[in-house]
Amino acid sequence: MLPSSTVENYLKAIYQGAATLTPPHRLLPMGQLASALGVVPGTATTMVKALAESGLVEYEPYSGVALTPAGHKLAALVLRRHRLIELFLVQVMGMKWDEVHDDAEQLEHVVSERLIERMDEMLGHPTHDPHGDPIPGRDGTIAHRHLDSLLTCPIDTPLKVTRIADQDPAFLRFIETNELKPGQPVDVVGRDAAADSVIVRGKDQRRITIGARAASKLLVEPR
Ligand SMILES: [Zn+2]
Repeated sequence: MLPSSTVENYLKAIYQGAATLTPPHRLLPMGQLASALGVVPGTATTMVKALAESGLVEYEPYSGVALTPAGHKLAALVLRRHRLIELFLVQVMGMKWDEVHDDAEQLEHVVSERLIERMDEMLGHPTHDPHGDPIPGRDGTIAHRHLDSLLTCPIDTPLKVTRIADQDPAFLRFIETNELKPGQPVDVVGRDAAADSVIVRGKDQRRITIGARAASKLLVEPR
């Protein structure tokens, strides 16, 4: 028997890694999975073979791994717990959005179904967590939307921040200081390929220059 938190972390990592693949690619390379989990490739392969035997993933040697429908549902339910816990810690317990991720990483494996459903009710059945990530439903369905980032969105178009695709506390504080949290207005003034940076106009016409890597993690939609 594998410890359930390990299984859940693998399924979650495969789910999140698969989201970065561009069609027709569907299998997550093992090297990418191993580095996301901070383990050596041999460890990841052993684990993935066990998950394949349990029917949670499909594993193709030398190609990679994909979730089966059963694995996909389990992964979505871990994300549901994680995201509801984060929102609960922020909205009900008054914690800051840059300090809840690590606690949610622990709690997502131990909270009961009853507790999670009660949190969901207290929060008014929210659709997104504090970082703008969609909260999967009880049945494991996730609302999928394609969002542009500040790197790919049109220039000089009124946008708003929708989702922050990085949980690093220092990065989240940078976002907060510059008033670029989900819901806040933004538009791209220009991109500087030579400097690898993006110049944006935020709240109150504030001009902010951000690096391309950071810009790729700020997802936006039309305002
Ligand atoms: Zn988190």
